[in-house]
Amino acid sequence: MIETEKLGKQYSYKEIISDVTFRVEEGEMFGLIGPSGAGKSTLLRLLDLLEEQTEGSLSLLGEPVTRNPTERLKLRLRMAMLLQKPVVFNTSVEGNIALGLKFRKVGKAETAQKVHDALDAIGLTGYGTRKAITLSGGEAQRVALARAMVTEPEILYLDEPTANLDPPSTEKIEQLVVRMNKELGTTVILSTHDLLQGQRLAKRIGVLMNGKLLQTETTRKIFHQPQSTQIARFVGMDNLIDGKVIATDREEVTIATGNVEIHALSSYPVETKVTALFRGEDVTIDLYPRSTTSARNLLHGTIEKLVPVGPFEHVLIDCGVLIIALVTIRSVEDLGLAPGKEVWVSFKATAVHVIAQNS
Ligand code: ADP
Repeated sequence: MIETEKLGKQYSYKEIISDVTFRVEEGEMFGLIGPSGAGKSTLLRLLDLLEEQTEGSLSLLGEPVTRNPTERLKLRLRMAMLLQKPVVFNTSVEGNIALGLKFRKVGKAETAQKVHDALDAIGLTGYGTRKAITLSGGEAQRVALARAMVTEPEILYLDEPTANLDPPSTEKIEQLVVRMNKELGTTVILSTHDLLQGQRLAKRIGVLMNGKLLQTETTRKIFHQPQSTQIARFVGMDNLIDGKVIATDREEVTIATGNVEIHALSSYPVETKVTALFRGEDVTIDLYPRSTTSARNLLHGTIEKLVPVGPFEHVLIDCGVLIIALVTIRSVEDLGLAPGKEVWVSFKATAVHVIAQNS
């Protein structure tokens, strides 16, 4: 559906996007994550043919994209884009939704039916004659999405679509996008710096940093097996521990760090300098050493401090090496976790992802 080859974009000699090669299959929901300024919007504008690349090439909907304006417009009419800031025009809600259909010269009766159905789908039945500029941010974004929906785009680009919205409005937009993807088979590319949104919606994710696509993989792999410490930090990997492989046993390695040993699954040979990566939610805290655990890693330590993160707490434990666990507030209370308390920490070898140092 989308295929790029070494795509690049410069603005006045400054490279914003470079060497971006990836493909998205028909019907996929693909996430593009990266910090602000990474180039996500720029990449989406290239894919939506709003701008021309300065390097490389791309194919859309099975056709190589040329510089011919008529051909580009034809392709553009088969795609739609939703921006971070809802765009509504100073006319009625109906008028806003019908805009793309008018442009495509769809007849009156068909337009009326489509607008009616769209209003129903976005939960704004009865709002048709209201002036769109009087809508709330969340409602306006739903109208903007409806405007895209009625044109039945084959590809829908979403550029941080819920960055300005409250959680209930975000949920409504997400539900609508999921429906379009599932029921109409719309191919969706979603850019977001909201990692949880990326995790919720996308099956596959590309990580864009400093204009480069650093890793493209299934969502699970991006969050559990990042290719570099830079990506690991961005995707909220809590534990990044440097060490050296001191023993190997079939698929398992033992990594020494200070006077602590960490067991992980990896094929790096003895003497390799590595970083062990694992998520705080994969770390279990107990007040006594468990006799029943299957976790290969069991360490004793003292809690240094607790740091709240939403409905969870990060518990920092000095086990000779600092281990960070992500624990529900409920568990913190049940276990009476507090600074100075001695605890046992366990995590599975399979939860630890190992990369060579300086990756
Ligand atoms: P993101 O969407 O990931 O936040 P953007 O694509 O908006 O990133 O921006 C990437 C970089 O490109 C930023 O440094 C931004 O200032 C720059 N940039 C974006 N558009 C233009 C432009 N039209 N002219 C010059 N620089 C631009």
